[in-house]
Amino acid sequence: MTTPLTQLADDEALFAQTVAQFAGDVIRPRVHAMDEAGKLDPEIIAPCFELGLMGIEVPEAYGGAGSSFFMACLAVEELSRVDPSVGVFVDVQNTLFNNCLLRWGTDAQKERYAPRMVADTVGAYALSEASSGSDAFGLKTRARKDGGRWLLDGTKLWITNGAEAGVFVLFATVDPDQGYKGITAFLVEKDFPGFAVGKKEDKLGIRASSTTELLLTDCEVPDDNVLGEVGKGYKVAIETLNEGRIGIGAQMVGCARGAFEAALAYSQEREAFGRAIFDFQGVQFQLAQMASDIEASRLLVYNAARLKDAGQPFVREAAMAKLVSSQVAERVTSAAIELYGGYGYTKDYPVEKYWRDAKIGKIYEGTSNMQLATIAKSLVN
Ligand SMILES: Cc1cc2nc3c(=O)[nH]c(=O)nc-3n(C[C@H](O)[C@H](O)[C@H](O)COP(=O)(O)OP(=O)(O)OC[C@H]3O[C@@H](n4cnc5c(N)ncnc54)[C@H](O)[C@@H]3O)c2cc1C
Repeated sequence: MTTPLTQLADDEALFAQTVAQFAGDVIRPRVHAMDEAGKLDPEIIAPCFELGLMGIEVPEAYGGAGSSFFMACLAVEELSRVDPSVGVFVDVQNTLFNNCLLRWGTDAQKERYAPRMVADTVGAYALSEASSGSDAFGLKTRARKDGGRWLLDGTKLWITNGAEAGVFVLFATVDPDQGYKGITAFLVEKDFPGFAVGKKEDKLGIRASSTTELLLTDCEVPDDNVLGEVGKGYKVAIETLNEGRIGIGAQMVGCARGAFEAALAYSQEREAFGRAIFDFQGVQFQLAQMASDIEASRLLVYNAARLKDAGQPFVREAAMAKLVSSQVAERVTSAAIELYGGYGYTKDYPVEKYWRDAKIGKIYEGTSNMQLATIAKSLVN
């Protein structure tokens, strides 16, 4: 018998509940201060490792949970329901860094890094540069072979987890004349000579999530740290992002749920014209629309994640999931502000932050136009 898409297996339900409780008890009291400070509270980072959230798909042999991609999406959704900054912190670790390492790493690389990712090391994924975002393979960071090592030169921009990460999957070109066929992925540690973290961005939303430059000046990377094959980094990048954007879909679903739940509760408390504003049909209809939009985007995200776990084609579904869930998150968080009236526009209430946090969904891991391009291509191929 086929199971309904949103029906969780016992282990999935238990896991989602555990993450939700952690988010409610430990993260929620810190959300406002982290947003103001533009920084993750270190007090929440250690528990993310202790709860197994930083190595969800890492096999048990390396100390991980050996779970599914879908579980990683559940974690990102539940965390983002409380704070999308924490959602993306965990998302990048699981759906980008660990995913890359487990899929493309040699046994020796997995043995070296996977136990660290589970225990105490934050990972990041460094593809974008100042002049290459959507056109990612126009990147300029150079890698030159020098005996048994590579020397990397260039500047990466917009790197999530840049401030916290100990290790990066970082893309450079070994030969710009070869276009995308020169792109190569490297595992770069923050302590490698010639590596430095540069400016941290002061952002509209997901402010507690660090977004930094990475500066590479003859950065020395051992030959053993090439991830995948030389010249095949484009495959590592594309295939990882195809999966990663399902995680961003989950982040957007969580963000929309957080705003919706707050607005629903508020509408039952706030009175106007002598009754709760929820009693007005106009308000009920707004909330009903929000709930329906969230359900639709959640179905897209769950379907894409479950397709990926089942080894079925999922690229189009992943693009649709990210496209729609980021549209829904923007709409739902905006409507939530309106339902709070003037209070919604202030920082004394949680909804304006969800709206600021939602905006990034249309930009990173491929802008909405890039998702539309992927979907359009799939219509005729
Ligand atoms: C907060 C944040 C976190 C990020 N985290 C990471 C990270 O961890 N790692 C990483 O590598 N990158 C990261 N990024 C970078 C992000 O992926 C890029 O910003 C994004 O891909 C867009 O690239 P761009 O900024 O260069 O915009 P551009 O590519 O310059 O796009 C500008 C506009 O032009 C449109 N456009 C461009 N080309 C086309 C086209 N062919 N057809 C139609 N429209 C087009 C775009 O849709 C967009 O609207 C992050 C960015 C932000 C803001």
